[in-house]
Amino acid sequence: MIEVKDLCKRYDGRTVLDGISAAFGPGEVVALVGPSGGGKSTLLRCLNGLEPFDGGSVRVGDDMLEPGDTRAQGERLWRIRRRVGFVFQQWHLFAHRTALGNVTEAPIHVKGLGPKEATEQGRALLAKVGLSHREQAYPSELSGGEQQRVAIARALAMEPEVLLLDEPTSALDPERVGELVDLLARLRTDGLTLVAVTHEMRFARELASRMLVLHGGHIIEEGPPSQLLASPRHERTRAFLGLDR
Ligand code: ATP
Ligand code: MG
Repeated sequence: MIEVKDLCKRYDGRTVLDGISAAFGPGEVVALVGPSGGGKSTLLRCLNGLEPFDGGSVRVGDDMLEPGDTRAQGERLWRIRRRVGFVFQQWHLFAHRTALGNVTEAPIHVKGLGPKEATEQGRALLAKVGLSHREQAYPSELSGGEQQRVAIARALAMEPEVLLLDEPTSALDPERVGELVDLLARLRTDGLTLVAVTHEMRFARELASRMLVLHGGHIIEEGPPSQLLASPRHERTRAFLGLDR
């Protein structure tokens, strides 16, 4: 469970997030949409403590992040990052490690799992994302969609409660988008909370239980995708969805 209260974030005195409040419960899938520059990636980074902020709070379970000295929050930050996984738009795989090596790295070095146990777990995760046959391949030998699935398996290896995805579909062709939707739908049934920034309305419609529209640092509208896509109330949402054209 992540709860954000009145979150404010400024870059060089310019307000990018202006009092965001939202909660993300277990097993929920939330699509975060909105125009470019609206603050979606910034919000996602604040949710797992990758980005310090200027006001409000982020709570993950019992751990609370607030503005101020990040060193004082060191241990809490550490716990939050373990509980909240992040899959970046560009995946950031370790180039010199195989698919299996990418997935076992953090469990061995951060969690202290033995190599044998980590390999077993890594193989199970690669099977889950449909990549058993590619476990010895390096990132440069994998397609975009395969690299992304390795990145998801790698995030899952830390057994997070929440997985944040920043534009997971942006580098995928339509068929791969369908596969990703299926994969994430399976993870949802395991009780994982998913928060995904996306420009893909099909992705939002097929997967999300709730959609948040972020514009100018505010959540201007939220609701179930079916309702929000069919009859958005806010004129900015209508414009963003191209309904006014
Ligand atoms: P997109 O859909 O294009 O990815 P976004 O909604 O993810 O956009 P953010 O990346 O969160 O938008 O950026 C929000 C605003 O904050 C933008 O105006 C951006 O220029 C600014 N911004 C983001 N990161 C920084 C930074 N490190 N320093 C200064 N300004 C930043
Ligand atoms: Mg972004």
